[in-house]
Amino acid sequence: MPLLVTGTIGIDTVHTPSAKAEGVSGGSCAYFAAAAAFHHKPIRVVGAVGGDWPREHAILLESIEGLCLEGLERRTDSKTFAWGGRYFDNMNQRETLFTELGVLEEAPPEVPSSYADSRIIFLANSHPSVQLNLLNEFPKRELAVADTMDLWITIAHEELLALFKEIDGLIINDSEAEQLTNQSDSIAAATELLQFGPEFVIVKKGEHGSVLVHPDGTLVLPAFPLEQSNVVDPTGAGDSFAGGFLGHLASCDTYDFKAMKEAMAWGTITASFTLQSFGLDGLVSTTQPQLKERMQAFKQLASVD
Ligand code: AMP
Repeated sequence: MPLLVTGTIGIDTVHTPSAKAEGVSGGSCAYFAAAAAFHHKPIRVVGAVGGDWPREHAILLESIEGLCLEGLERRTDSKTFAWGGRYFDNMNQRETLFTELGVLEEAPPEVPSSYADSRIIFLANSHPSVQLNLLNEFPKRELAVADTMDLWITIAHEELLALFKEIDGLIINDSEAEQLTNQSDSIAAATELLQFGPEFVIVKKGEHGSVLVHPDGTLVLPAFPLEQSNVVDPTGAGDSFAGGFLGHLASCDTYDFKAMKEAMAWGTITASFTLQSFGLDGLVSTTQPQLKERMQAFKQLASVD
């Protein structure tokens, strides 16, 4: 069941209350792909970078087993997407310091013909028009899920509403769900978002976990409780959650509510490793046994038997 992702491959600058990291590997597509590869192979990447994309970022992405980078365009005369953010004291909220769109202002990357049989599509954070164009290339898709961000809600609202009509699932942050619906309650916001088109909605709530609203039921899951000293950088946790979620669904080739509940737990566990380092390092340094061990611990924590 080939899984394809498009989104940003970026150069991030992150300020946390105790540290600053400049020029780290990031981008919504990169985090998703690295996370999904734990659960399923291949993960097909569609994206673009510029001539300034650091060699060490390329080496890191190329080192991840199961990623297919045939759809990654390297445009020597262009600039890579770059983003800077600052976390507030509780690490649960952040502000964007800058967004340099770079390659995102150019033509969208081309989809290799070898990707034509992709059945699950994840539209990681990017311009909604780019997301919609890509979706149109896969008329035989079985599951299309998208994420979005405050920037696109503000500057490309109409395009976003058009996108919502075409997708099966939406995975979104609590603050963005509130921005779209004016509902501060996550279940109420997700329920309202269903009216925009998607069949299911997941609201990510950072350290407060996540919520899935689906026609067959609602699931509320806590986050994995990490010790404070292990929370280094939350950037990319949302994309990693989506990678764990869809990677699991692709691996079991079923998209019903039961499979989604298990997938929510895998998303939670996969994202928890992203928090432990800056950039992709938290995911890249994690092993399958570590992932499975944490899943066991999480199931016990969340069980009320
Ligand atoms: P998350 O923390 O899961 O929301 O993802 C943060 C990642 O998304 C960072 O690595 C950024 O490079 C990337 N990013 C930030 N803003 C945008 C945007 N407007 N569109 C696409 N990707 C973005």
